[in-house]
Amino acid sequence: MNVDVERVSLELAETFTISRGSQDAAENVVVRLSDGEYEGVGAAAPSSHYGETADTVEAVLEGLRPDLEAIDDPFQVAAIEADLRESIRGNPAARTAVSIALHDLVGKRTELPLWRYWGLDPDEAPETSYTVGIADPETMGEKAARAADDGYDILKVKVGTDDDRARIAAVADAAPDATIRVDANEAWTPKEAVRNAEWLAEYDVEFVEQPVSAEDPEGLRYVYEHSPLPIAVDESCVELDDVPRVADRADVVVLKLMKCGGLVEARRMIHTARAHGLEVMLGCMIESDAAISAGGQLAPLCDYVDLDGSLLLAADADPYDGPVCPGGAIDLDDVPGIGLR
Ligand SMILES: [Mg+2]
Repeated sequence: MNVDVERVSLELAETFTISRGSQDAAENVVVRLSDGEYEGVGAAAPSSHYGETADTVEAVLEGLRPDLEAIDDPFQVAAIEADLRESIRGNPAARTAVSIALHDLVGKRTELPLWRYWGLDPDEAPETSYTVGIADPETMGEKAARAADDGYDILKVKVGTDDDRARIAAVADAAPDATIRVDANEAWTPKEAVRNAEWLAEYDVEFVEQPVSAEDPEGLRYVYEHSPLPIAVDESCVELDDVPRVADRADVVVLKLMKCGGLVEARRMIHTARAHGLEVMLGCMIESDAAISAGGQLAPLCDYVDLDGSLLLAADADPYDGPVCPGGAIDLDDVPGIGLR
């Protein structure tokens, strides 16, 4: 297998702010695996919250180069993911880039898009939400109005500020027909979260994502038991083992390829979540379509999709284009592998 690793800096269309901080660009690392005839493409979108940077991803992939070059059967994705998990503990984004590239290669060799290879119904793919990052209320209202004009029906609004209520009011006012989800990224105390969920319910908010710290599982349970709105968990649900741990204190688990380490593992988590009666949302980081597209292939297995990572990038920042379209539709067509155009 020929292995190519390339770091790319993806400029955002505008500064993106959540309760933990702001960013203007995202560093991704693109991996290309070629068997001489076909080339599989994948990308890592490392998150410092989970201990990774573009530097760690590059270092890990360089260290893995001999192992990757020795892969002779990319169809053995489950065994390869398991080997990677064993040999480079942690580093989920680095492992995911390899997993995506292998899956893309398998799809290209079989001339099948992954959704078809997996036996999924493309019409079951939910449309993606579009994220409105934190800003002053007026700016958030403007962003929401623009997103609604661009065709997005579902807005995911970042909260965890000194005045969340004014911000949600501005968004609801600017985009009255939009479905609103909120994501506090761990910003609230359990009591605040319940109080906030009470007024958020007046805006018909669909669910509240990660209201409290992932370090406070009892606080999460308190919120789950007292909130009038469903609770989704993101930072509290990283890997497969976390799914049973949150099953009695959440309604929805937010899976991300960059947290769990690959497409085989993501499907395992989806099925495990189902067995525990949980709903599933597939989320993302700020990612190139070389990663987002792989999530798009999984979308028919999910109840909710938040795959707007490449939609937030500046025009022409991303060299790749895939099935997740401006306006929110996930267009799963016959392009093989992860569906890169
Ligand atoms: Mg989140």
